[in-house]
Amino acid sequence: MRMSHLFAKTLRQAPAEADTPNHQLMLRAGLAQQLAAGVYSYLPVGWRVMRKIEQIIREEMDRAGGQEIMMPAIQPAELWADSGRLATMADVLVRFQDRRERDFVLGPTHEEVVVDLFKRQVQSYRDMPILVYQIQTKFRDEARPRGGLMRVREFTMKDAYSFDTDWDALDANYQAARAAYTRIFDRCGVPTVPVLADSGAIGGKDSEEFMYLTEVGEDMILLCPGCGYAANEEKADHKKHELPFEEPRALEEVATPGRKTIEQLVEFLGVPPYKTLKAVFYEADGAPVFVAIRGDLEVNEAKLRNALKAPGLALLDDEGVRKHGLVAGSASPVGLTGVRVVADDSALQSPNLVAGANKHDAHYRNVNYGRDWTASVVADISLARAGSPCPRCGTPLETRRGMEMGHVFKLGTVYTERLQASYTDEAGALQPAVMGCYGIGVGRVFAGAIEANHDERGIIWPPGIAPYDVHLTALGLDKPGVRESAEQVYRQLQDAGYAVLFDDREDLSAGVKFNDADLLGMPLRVTVSPRSIESGGAELKHRSGKDAEVVALADVPARAGAVLAALGSRK
Ligand SMILES: [Zn+2]
Repeated sequence: MRMSHLFAKTLRQAPAEADTPNHQLMLRAGLAQQLAAGVYSYLPVGWRVMRKIEQIIREEMDRAGGQEIMMPAIQPAELWADSGRLATMADVLVRFQDRRERDFVLGPTHEEVVVDLFKRQVQSYRDMPILVYQIQTKFRDEARPRGGLMRVREFTMKDAYSFDTDWDALDANYQAARAAYTRIFDRCGVPTVPVLADSGAIGGKDSEEFMYLTEVGEDMILLCPGCGYAANEEKADHKKHELPFEEPRALEEVATPGRKTIEQLVEFLGVPPYKTLKAVFYEADGAPVFVAIRGDLEVNEAKLRNALKAPGLALLDDEGVRKHGLVAGSASPVGLTGVRVVADDSALQSPNLVAGANKHDAHYRNVNYGRDWTASVVADISLARAGSPCPRCGTPLETRRGMEMGHVFKLGTVYTERLQASYTDEAGALQPAVMGCYGIGVGRVFAGAIEANHDERGIIWPPGIAPYDVHLTALGLDKPGVRESAEQVYRQLQDAGYAVLFDDREDLSAGVKFNDADLLGMPLRVTVSPRSIESGGAELKHRSGKDAEVVALADVPARAGAVLAALGSRK
């Protein structure tokens, strides 16, 4: 490819909206261009990277036993009504009506469609195991698209689905997909760690996310340095401070003038935070939800959503609290009627707590679960934080930020039961198939690869996904012999099978051209200039290396091949 004709421009400075290195470099290198919030065009160099990542995914999914298919983006809304997700994913579904006023969605994921396919293709246990995948465009109406390619509304995803006769067989498919993911991210130059994850709107039992740990990631991960436990904050468990047994004492009202927060209460009454009961207010489906949690803990909204099966759950502000007749700062589940109460399981084991009295400037001492109040839902809804004891070994957990590259789920029979996808087992009985699903955001791997492989000058593409093998720079094109020599090298490298980006632009300084070569980040740089010709040929240097070597023009392809092979590139 000749840069004089390249359908993209490099930028000296990143546009102001880009605040992470991967987003800034993507725009500066002219790899992609935003059309609307969270909607991007890929330009030639960026698209080559996407195609390479897709090809690596294809090879590894095929190797894991996957079969590539292609399902439609346009999906009948009835399918989504049948699975229950027309409601539970309502806030992100892109919907439309056709000319006959039939409802459709543009698929954000394909569980419904693949189960429909399964029903039409599979009848018997003999037809399984099955692992199918596709690489396709998805649509999600995200509230706040951000972070370049990390949170977008239209994106390329590899989604795979497995169908098995039982959970053991699912585990084999799951492990095969997991192993494929490790190889895929490795080949794409993105180091990832699998972490336990919340299944969210997809549903199912176990799930893990593959995270690239970086401070610019939007997810918070809890890691145990003691035993290796790793989980997304949404999912992470922790050991809670256990209080010694105490006999319940008599309920006692105390005046707490002006004390509204746990901090103020703790100081005023001289009790530790874990001896208090905190009230937090949410709203789900228009009704208030009273959440009671020990004062030393915070609410994990993902866990709360799951416990209540309320995807639309939202925190209430002070006005919302008043609207529902609750007393912010002194609210309590004691004597409360007509409001749904959810308790963190810590509250059950903690005797004689301080809690609100449901009137201003007053609290109760010695509040005990069971005697003074109860909850309609009791669950672990607490947030693990840095320093919380590891749920497995008790070592204080550490926090890191991460970029999510992929997600694997053991769905089980959630979808096959709802959509009645059964097979006939060996005894002739109908059974729901056991499903798994496995996603990789191709654009996220693209962003992750840039984030994991750059320096202050630009991108350093991992050879496996580099858009071009060689960046050929010609300097002083008006000087004798330069154009001919550069054209010769360009032709020879291509004849030898290398992809070459040829900076043949005239009237640009060496500085500008070298800056662009650093920014664009091909693994191998070849420079032809009056100086290199005088020294006997062309200069070779790899992107992250310091020293250049001069190689005779005719030897450039062979030497380039050796350098690229040493860098780990596959031709
Ligand atoms: Zn641990």
